Amino acid sequence: MTAETAAEEKQTNCLGCNKPLKKIKIYYRDGKYYCDKKCWKKAKTASASGEGKK
Ligand SMILES: [Zn+2]
Repeated sequence: MTAETAAEEKQTNCLGCNKPLKKIKIYYRDGKYYCDKKCWKKAKTASASGEGKK
């Protein structure tokens, strides 16, 4: 009685602030979902830091 679907692969949290995404306002970029542009930039900067850039 378990609902085993591909839901696990679905991204439900923002990669910028790690908060649950609201379906009314989602910022889609590079195949990922964020709250808005700010979170996208944040995630981008976070992933970039430690790799080349200081
Ligand atoms: Zn966010």
